[in-house]
Amino acid sequence: MIKRFIRRVLGLERKGPVRLGRDKHGLSADQLSPGARKVCEVLQQHGFAACVVGGAVRDLLLRLPPKDFDVATDARPEQIKPLFRRAFMIGRRFRIVHVMIGAETVEVSTFRAAQVVPEGEAARVQDPNGRVLRDNVFGSQEEDARRRDFTVNALFFDPATGEIIDYHGGLDDLKRHTLRMIDDPETRYREDPVRMLRAVRLAAKLGLSIDNATRAPIRRLAPLLEQVPPARLFDEMLKLLLSGHASACLRQLREEGLHHGLLPLLDVILDQPLGERFVTLALAQTDARVLEGRPVSPAFLFAALLWHEVLQAWRAQERRGERSLVALESAMDDVLERQCEKLAITRKLTATMREVWALQPRFEHRAGQRALRLVETPRFRMGYDFLALRAASGEVPADLEAWWRAFQEADAETRHAMLLPETGPKKRRRRRRKKPAAGAPAAPAE
Ligand code: ATP
Ligand code: MG
Repeated sequence: MIKRFIRRVLGLERKGPVRLGRDKHGLSADQLSPGARKVCEVLQQHGFAACVVGGAVRDLLLRLPPKDFDVATDARPEQIKPLFRRAFMIGRRFRIVHVMIGAETVEVSTFRAAQVVPEGEAARVQDPNGRVLRDNVFGSQEEDARRRDFTVNALFFDPATGEIIDYHGGLDDLKRHTLRMIDDPETRYREDPVRMLRAVRLAAKLGLSIDNATRAPIRRLAPLLEQVPPARLFDEMLKLLLSGHASACLRQLREEGLHHGLLPLLDVILDQPLGERFVTLALAQTDARVLEGRPVSPAFLFAALLWHEVLQAWRAQERRGERSLVALESAMDDVLERQCEKLAITRKLTATMREVWALQPRFEHRAGQRALRLVETPRFRMGYDFLALRAASGEVPADLEAWWRAFQEADAETRHAMLLPETGPKKRRRRRRKKPAAGAPAAPAE
């Protein structure tokens, strides 16, 4: 009897989940989105179990606004879909149902279990490092909790009873502000190395500290990230950079040894002495925008993160005697090729990044038609914001940015009055040959 008590206190014996009533945790159903409430209600009316699970429960308990609401149920996708007017099955690896309620999309997934790998069959579902390639087995609520990554991500909230159902001590961990992996951390990282990046992102975003046992294997297992498909890595990096806590995330990545040799982008961001001020400013600006709820363009952010690498390659080509614009083109090619190998930056994104970069030398011309045309180009605003960042970091003179700021806001007449006399480098050179020293040329911007 005493032995059993001690085992239970030490957590050696699991007697089902902890069920915490509504008066104990302070979370109530009206904090859920109308969509999440509705979806749970309909499923329960039809005799199914349905709870809100994962990030939303965690965020509400931490008094943070949830990004979205996920519902977990024992209903199968084909049973869920007919219960709602606008519901779509998505996902190839594991089918889930997107239910649209008004403008909201609620993601509804069936309880699933981590794949149990029979002896000798491991090779079929795991790669040699233990990475799980398939995990599409339906399961119970308990199994569903167990296949999740961190204890704080495995809490279920039942809006009908107001109970929180906790299989892995997530509530205690939340109170202690601790991020802890469910089960053996090393095994769980081997199954899915992206969990290492999730640990860093969630800890930084939620202000949690990573539990020692959860943190310990990360440095050693960091190279496993190389096996993650680039598209998945890109999605996770994007989440990290747009979390509103990008600066903190990147600091933590460096602390955990996750930045080296894995993603060229991270090497660039974290190790470049030249662009450090520029990148720091870009990340701080992005974080501020996200936290204010203003839109952020991933293309702009990636363009900023890689700018000093482009700049370095550009200058190197110029020193080799290449013409400036040709040198810039080939610098952009080099940098993007290197980055895209590991990080599947989408084509649409790289196209915009190129546009933003290519606009930069054009800001040096504050004369005649060139300046008037530039302000009318569709990407002008993004290009100008980028120029402002360059000015703030001290890379280009502040008056260049100030001039373009005033120029874009001015009416047509003022714009004409603002234009500098035509002293473009080509004309200057031509004129000089005939008649040297014809007035001091404008200082080059870069
Ligand atoms: P965010 O605030 O970024 O949305 P989140 O924890 O909700 O954080 P999602 O990617 O939306 O992250 O995932 C929803 C839930 O699915 C998580 O809370 C977690 O329970 C589970 N999950 C997500 N990714 C993994 C993973 N790689 N391994 C195990 N469980 C995962
Ligand atoms: Mg989420």
